[in-house]
Amino acid sequence: MKNIVLFGKPGAGKGTQASVLKEKFELVHISTGDVFRYNISNQTELGTLAKSYMDKGELVPDSVTINMLADEVDRSIAEAKGYIFDGFPRTTAQAEALDTLLSEKGMQVNATIALEADEDELTARLLERGKTSGRTDDTDETKIRTRFAEYNAKTAPLIEFYEKQNKLHSVNGIGEIDQITERIASIIASL
Ligand code: ADP
Repeated sequence: MKNIVLFGKPGAGKGTQASVLKEKFELVHISTGDVFRYNISNQTELGTLAKSYMDKGELVPDSVTINMLADEVDRSIAEAKGYIFDGFPRTTAQAEALDTLLSEKGMQVNATIALEADEDELTARLLERGKTSGRTDDTDETKIRTRFAEYNAKTAPLIEFYEKQNKLHSVNGIGEIDQITERIASIIASL
């Protein structure tokens, strides 16, 4: 089993890369953002709750997110050769919960890949994506700034969390999509 965490600021390209990498390495892709958006479009209770945070650019509370992630893993575990986690974990509590969840199943995080790009480049990408994505959190610079602030306060500490476990691999997230995929793929292939 190869379990990969894709890590990076909003707009770093986690979703784009995960969609390619899941095919290449036959991994199950779990994007917590996508699961929330699916629930919002189906007007579930979880969706209504998540929307109230996402619309402001804030993180959804850990208790909600961790339970949802655990359900997603349970649903797919039988067929999974490994996972690519995209947008999870985003807090230390989530990272600890992921370690516990995986170890209960005899697995672990094998590598965390941090996609690096600066905030100016990312803001431009998000605003561009907002023109077509229909995502309300991508069209408003104030919300984008809140998402970066949330990342810097709550998610950035995970860099040290995974460095301590010797699992962190930093990848330059600027360049052609294919080039970046190659950078990540060579890390996954070497695990
Ligand atoms: P991006 O990486 O571009 O911000 P995502 O789709 O990963 O896009 O996330 C969109 C929003 O969904 C986040 O701003 C947050 O509100 C919510 N979200 C996604 N994943 C998590 C998580 N692990 N914990 C808390 N909130 C999350």
